[in-house]
Amino acid sequence: MLSSLGTARTLNLDMELQPASVYVKELRAGLPSKVFAPAHSRLWWIPVHLALITTGILVLAAGVLPWIAVPLVSLVIGASFAGLTFVGHELLHGGIIRGHSRLRSVLGWICFAPFNLSPRLWIAWHNRTHHAHTNDPVNDPDMYPTRARYDEAVEPSSRSTTSRSAAGAGAAHSV
Ligand SMILES: [Zn+2]
Repeated sequence: MLSSLGTARTLNLDMELQPASVYVKELRAGLPSKVFAPAHSRLWWIPVHLALITTGILVLAAGVLPWIAVPLVSLVIGASFAGLTFVGHELLHGGIIRGHSRLRSVLGWICFAPFNLSPRLWIAWHNRTHHAHTNDPVNDPDMYPTRARYDEAVEPSSRSTTSRSAAGAGAAHSV
C-alpha cells in the first residue's frame, strides 16, 4: 500500500502541467452542452433570500418572538446573506445569465450589497485574479498560506521593505 502511494506521488510530481486552456478545451469537448447552459431558475433565490432577510429582521426588531426563536431566526438571516453571495458568485461568473451585463451588474449589486462589495470589484478580485491564480501563495488574493505571511500582510510596518513587498496584497504583486 505504502509503495503504491509512493509510486502515485512520483507520477504526479513528474506530470508536466499544461496551460489551463488545454484542460478547459478537453473538458468542454467531453461534456454535454447543456452543462454549460445558464441556470436562469436560480434567479428566484434572490427574492426568496431577500424576503427571508427582511422578514427575519422585522420580526426580530418587533420583539415578538420567544427568546428561544431569536437565534434560529438569526441563523436563517445569516444563511440567506450567504445564499445571496453564492447566487451573486454564480451570476457574476455568467452561470445564471449570459450577456446582459447591466442586468447582471444590478443583480450583482443586490447580492453583494450586504457586504458593501461592488460587482466591478468582485469581478476584478475574484474572477480575474483569484481564479487566474487559485491557491498561488503570491498572486491569489484569497491565499494566506501561513500565519507568518498573514501577520506580515496586516502589520507591514514591523517588517523590512523586502518582506512587505512579498507579503502585500496578492493582486498587486507580480513575480
Ligand atoms: Zn468563482
